[in-house]
Amino acid sequence: MSDLRELYQEVILDHNKQPRNFRTIEGVPSAEGYNPLCGDKVTIYLDLEGDQVKDIAFQGAGCAISQASASLMTEAVQGKTRAEAEDLFNRFRHMLTGDGQGEGEGSEGLDKLEVFSGVRQYPMRVKCATLAWHTLKSALEGQARTPVTTE
Ligand code: ZN
Repeated sequence: MSDLRELYQEVILDHNKQPRNFRTIEGVPSAEGYNPLCGDKVTIYLDLEGDQVKDIAFQGAGCAISQASASLMTEAVQGKTRAEAEDLFNRFRHMLTGDGQGEGEGSEGLDKLEVFSGVRQYPMRVKCATLAWHTLKSALEGQARTPVTTE
């Protein structure tokens, strides 16, 4: 278990040091997120093609958890549909805020995002981990004017 925790920590530190998709995308909708509890800031750039994430990138500054979470999120939702991205967010949030029945409950299919499972023990840091996801959600909603099939 401590080996696993060490591995998780390594992944978070790696993504904080070398964030993936840390750039801007010209001419696409963006959304900004701010976590006043910790001072984390993140801007999400979302390029949707129809209902699918064609490209996603972020810019930001803040603690290791918030930046690593944004980095891992951009990797996780790349190529996903809107519904798949929202489903991933729901399961990610559940992993962090669930009622704790059963280890790993709800984290199925989260893959690398499971590195944040330890954050649930630190309620103050949950907002750091979910900031990028909330911002993604608002970026997705910002494109609601684009005709999409919601079925
Ligand atoms: Zn933070």
